[in-house]
Amino acid sequence: MNYQYILGGEFLACSFAFVYVLYTLVEKKKPKEIASSSTYLKTNGPKNGICSSLLQEAAGGTDIIIVGAGVAGSALAYTLGKDGRRVHVIERDLSEPDRIVGELLQPGGYLKLLELGLEDCVDGIDAQRVFGYALYKDGKNIKLSYPLENFNVDVSGRSFHNGRFIKKMREKASYLPNVKLEQGTVTSLVEKNGSIVGVNYKNKSGQEFTEKAPLTIVCDGCFSNLRSSLCKPKVEVPSYFVGLVLENCNLPYANHGHVILGDPSPILFYPISSTEIRCFVDVPTGRKLPSIGNGEMTHFLKIVIAPQIPPELYNSFIAAVDKGNIRSMPNRSMPASPYLTPGALMMGDAFNMRHPLTGGGMTVALSDIALLRNLLKPLHNLHDASALCKYLESFYTFRKSTSSTINTLAGLLYTICIASPDPARKEMREACFNYLSLGGVFSDEPIALLAGLNSSSSTLLYHFIAVAAYGVGRLMMPFPSPKRIWIAARLLSVALGIIFPIIKAEGIWQMLFPSTVPALLCTPYARE
Ligand SMILES: Cc1cc2nc3c(=O)[nH]c(=O)nc-3n(C[C@H](O)[C@H](O)[C@H](O)COP(=O)(O)OP(=O)(O)OC[C@H]3O[C@@H](n4cnc5c(N)ncnc54)[C@H](O)[C@@H]3O)c2cc1C
Repeated sequence: MNYQYILGGEFLACSFAFVYVLYTLVEKKKPKEIASSSTYLKTNGPKNGICSSLLQEAAGGTDIIIVGAGVAGSALAYTLGKDGRRVHVIERDLSEPDRIVGELLQPGGYLKLLELGLEDCVDGIDAQRVFGYALYKDGKNIKLSYPLENFNVDVSGRSFHNGRFIKKMREKASYLPNVKLEQGTVTSLVEKNGSIVGVNYKNKSGQEFTEKAPLTIVCDGCFSNLRSSLCKPKVEVPSYFVGLVLENCNLPYANHGHVILGDPSPILFYPISSTEIRCFVDVPTGRKLPSIGNGEMTHFLKIVIAPQIPPELYNSFIAAVDKGNIRSMPNRSMPASPYLTPGALMMGDAFNMRHPLTGGGMTVALSDIALLRNLLKPLHNLHDASALCKYLESFYTFRKSTSSTINTLAGLLYTICIASPDPARKEMREACFNYLSLGGVFSDEPIALLAGLNSSSSTLLYHFIAVAAYGVGRLMMPFPSPKRIWIAARLLSVALGIIFPIIKAEGIWQMLFPSTVPALLCTPYARE
């Protein structure tokens, strides 16, 4: 019966989607970002000769300046330092960060740690292995394991205290003799004739300095002050995460993330050490974030959220609320829309953000770093500005194949997971849960996408269409009534309304047809 739902509904959904895709592609003949990047280079960028001489002037003793030593900056410093580059990292605060972000690294991110030689940074910090997710809805639950059969035994997700992980990566980078890690705050980028030639910064004691280098990489995180000169930021805040730490309890499925499809939106649990479990309660922006200070938050967590918590975690949840260590963070999403700026690049959250429901941020950052390392490898002389510009342009294009899939999945899942009184949206959420419950390829491939083990955008689109089709099929069986046909039509329009804005923001052309984008074809890396 389940397969009949899929087949019947799939035909309808595919026809609908095909017409829509065709229309959108005809409308959008050129990829927007690359078009604007190239325009920028042509109109604002320096001529090659000028660019080279400017950047040579900026030479000094540093090849690369990195702004910020969070997840992206510290991993990047180690990676480029290991390749022999002279790296100067400027980080606002070198003490161990105490944050509620970046605590679950997906297996795809762990593979990138291995590729970069940073895997030992998850050792000795009481990191926990993660083997998949458990999904809860209306009292039912399913276990979705990462498909790790074809990998070495050490490959899995890892969850930890973010600050401990960053501290290990900073230490590892600073052991390299050609990496200088300095505490200081970058106040601005130094620009000369359209090129970035360095940064102005204040050191720990407030003295002002200018540092110059042929390449500056901005990794100053989600609250970036520097990104506005390197991209056109379109930041959205779809929700907030309210974070708590549960103690003295075990997760129903050990070493698994737990997602409760709750009301108003998802609730997450995963281990961050052998004795602590992180809980995130998502509060959509449309709803006022209850105040922590005046007790509204405690009331909200106890009255609205606690009844939805699995019984095994209930007492510890209440104890954590009573303990009062409640913190919140805005969940931002921002598609990558860089201006191709000679001498500068962005990485990590400064550059591109997605909803953290799927824990994809660190995987995207680490995979960008691995890509950049490979791209820059043949370029021994970073002072060759015109070559460097070409490499940077290819970076922005190449990265799409992984980042767009992770970003799109995060946007899709978050939108589907929000509770709604709309019958079509309810049906979509139910269809998603039931589709994943089918097991086999219906859960393995979606969970591989979530894990960062598969970055195929076509696989993602296929499963999204299949979920919508499954939902339509369920409504048509056993007999379609006019009301059910109406809900099915609404479900399809909801599905399209969810996916197209997300894909559009990612760049339809680059995401679906990356091999047709010119920057891909003109770098030595592409030829290799
Ligand atoms: C609530 C929440 C939960 C999340 N959970 C996960 C998860 O489980 N898994 C996952 O993969 N991702 C998660 N993410 C996303 C993840 O945290 C980010 O993708 C990741 O931290 C990005 O790393 P980054 O280096 O860009 O930024 P950060 O790690 O924030 O580092 C930025 C660094 O720059 C420094 N800095 C800032 N300004 C300056 C300046 N002017 N001068 C010098 N230094 C400066 C800061 O001090 C900081 O050290 C989550 C995000 C949120 C909001």
